[in-house]
Amino acid sequence: MLDLCREVRATILIASTSEVYGDPLEHPQAESHWGNVNPIGPRACYDEGKRCAEALAVSYARQYNVAVRIARIFNTYGPRMLEDDGRVVSNFITQSLRGKPITIFGRGTQTRSFCYVDDLVDGLVRLMASAHEGPMNLGNPDECTMLDLASRVRTLTGSSSAIVHQPLPADDPVRRRPDITLARSILGWAPRISLDDGLAMTIEDFRSRMGSSRAEQHPPSSAALS
Ligand code: UDP
Repeated sequence: MLDLCREVRATILIASTSEVYGDPLEHPQAESHWGNVNPIGPRACYDEGKRCAEALAVSYARQYNVAVRIARIFNTYGPRMLEDDGRVVSNFITQSLRGKPITIFGRGTQTRSFCYVDDLVDGLVRLMASAHEGPMNLGNPDECTMLDLASRVRTLTGSSSAIVHQPLPADDPVRRRPDITLARSILGWAPRISLDDGLAMTIEDFRSRMGSSRAEQHPPSSAALS
C-alpha cells in the first residue's frame, strides 16, 4: 500500500491502536509514551503488528516523502458491531438483552475509555485533512472501570442479568485513557457523545438486530401466505 501511495501520490491512513502502549507505564497515554508491550504474549501479534506498521510507515515517509497519517485508535464502539466479536461492549449488551450473566473478567477494576464511532470517524476525517505527520491519539478521555460499564449497560437495557466474574486474560492492560491534547490543538477535535448516550444508541441497534434475526429464524406464519 505504501508503494501504491508513492506511485499515485495518495495520503495513507495507518489505523493504529492504543494497544501500541501495551500495559502502559504512563497515565493518561500521550503519543510520546513508547509503550510497555510483551513481545511474546497472547496479544503480541496485534500489538507488535501495529507497532511494526507504524515503524514501516514512518520510515517509508522519511525515505520516499509519502504522506502518512497515523491514528492511534482507542476503544471504539457503536451500532453495527458484531454481537459475537468478543469485545466488552458487544458482550455486555448482548448478555444483558438476552438476560444472560454479564461476564466481567477479573475484578472489573481495570479501566478503558470508550469512544462513540461517529466521534472517531470525525477525528479520522480531520486527521486525513491535516498535515500532521506523527502518530495521533483518537479516543474519548472519559475513563471507566468494567464494573461501571456493566452497571451502565444493565441500567440502560433494563436488564436484571447477574454479574459473574471470570479469569482475567493474560497481559490485560490495567488502565487505558488517551491524552488527546494533540488532537485538540491540531485538529480542533474532541469527542461530543457521552458514554451513556452512545451506549443507548448502540443498545437500540443491537435490540433491533437481535429482534430481526429471531424473526428470520422463525418467520411469522403470515409470511408463508404471501
Ligand atoms: N472484558 C470483560 N468481559 C468481557 C469482555 C472483556 O470484562 O466479556 C474486559 C477485558 O478483560 C478488558 C476490557 O473488558 O479488560 C476490554 O476488553 P476488549 O476486548 O473489549 O478491549 P481491549 O482489551 O482490547 O481494550
